[in-house]
Amino acid sequence: MKIDLVTLFPEMCESVLGESIIGRAQKSGALEIKCHQLRDYAFDKHRRVDDTTYGGGMGMVMKCEPIALCFEDIEKQRGVKPYFIYMSPQGKPLTQEKLKELSKHENICVLAGHYEGVDQRVIDEFIDEEISIGDYVLTGGELPALVFIDALSRLAPGVLSNDECFTEESHFNGLLEYPQYTKPIEWRGLEVPPVLYSGDHAKVDRWRYEHSLINTAVKRPDMLERKNLSEDDENILKKHFSDNSD
Ligand code: SAM
Repeated sequence: MKIDLVTLFPEMCESVLGESIIGRAQKSGALEIKCHQLRDYAFDKHRRVDDTTYGGGMGMVMKCEPIALCFEDIEKQRGVKPYFIYMSPQGKPLTQEKLKELSKHENICVLAGHYEGVDQRVIDEFIDEEISIGDYVLTGGELPALVFIDALSRLAPGVLSNDECFTEESHFNGLLEYPQYTKPIEWRGLEVPPVLYSGDHAKVDRWRYEHSLINTAVKRPDMLERKNLSEDDENILKKHFSDNSD
């Protein structure tokens, strides 16, 4: 997967993306991420990327031309038109489902906005999709873009060591993950459920599935409303809640 990020703060983004799993995936070649300084595409005397808003008001708006030139240059460098995404509080909510859908694109270009946002004309002309990380407003698009790129990159082949790493995780199949435990078996009088160190893989899988379901019912009942529960699922939940009714 190849990702281009257009930002006013490339150093900040590179330092985050150069660390840990995403950093390693770039070194191994599973991912290619380039951060582009938008100001490099502003050719007036002051290299301005923003200007006052038509209609009046205090805020500044990001200008069309530097963004268009930067996008066109990225398209030229990559030799292919990327899928253009603008991080925006007005966008579609970022969910695991949306990430799965977007991970099918081999080339993605992400624009991080600032100030009051971006001139509507460049959105209309280039942007394929606006994505929001939640119903709140941040000062700039770098943190949303980093959240998006991190979550998207994990789905690219070769980034995580084993597909299981994300297929069993929260939200992948409409459920939250089961509780996790590590050594020691007993900590301050609290024990790891014995089935998890029994060596019986079928029983471990069953325990994990049941607790994934229960975890979701307790923490995010809204997610279960969107899922088709089987009779077995209903029975697992009924038993859990009747055993724990007081
Ligand atoms: N005036 C804009 C509005 O009301 O829709 C908000 C602009 S915001 C202060 C500046 C930039 O931060 C946006 O252009 C966008 O790139 C980014 N941003 C802020 N909140 C965001 C969110 N929830 N999701 C994605 N991007 C966000």
